[in-house]
Amino acid sequence: MTRLARALLAVYLVAFVWLAYVSAVCLQHNAPGQAAAFYATATVVLVAGGREWQHAAALQAAAVRGRRPRPRTYPSDLDAVMRAELARTCRCERWWSTFGTDHDPTCTQQTSATNTRNDEEG
Ligand SMILES: [Zn+2]
Repeated sequence: MTRLARALLAVYLVAFVWLAYVSAVCLQHNAPGQAAAFYATATVVLVAGGREWQHAAALQAAAVRGRRPRPRTYPSDLDAVMRAELARTCRCERWWSTFGTDHDPTCTQQTSATNTRNDEEG
């Protein structure tokens, strides 16, 4: 709560107490109309103090929210990296079962290096 908010709340509190006291004095001097007017004014001052209190609490909550560390975000080009990695994969089953070291004999991405390797092994 700022210093200004505390000062305003103190002023509202003093005004409320004073208006309530004046209302009680009006009742003692048999002036119910004036007492009602002062009670109504005291109520307005009390509502103003409550709103000032709420406003200060909202400002404090916003300040705390601003100081909190932001959630960690991934690099913005993560989607591009994932697309590039997926583009390098092959659709044949052997490529997936051999961790990307070999292709099916009918695969279109089979190169002469994988052909040679298959010939040596089999
Ligand atoms: Zn393949």
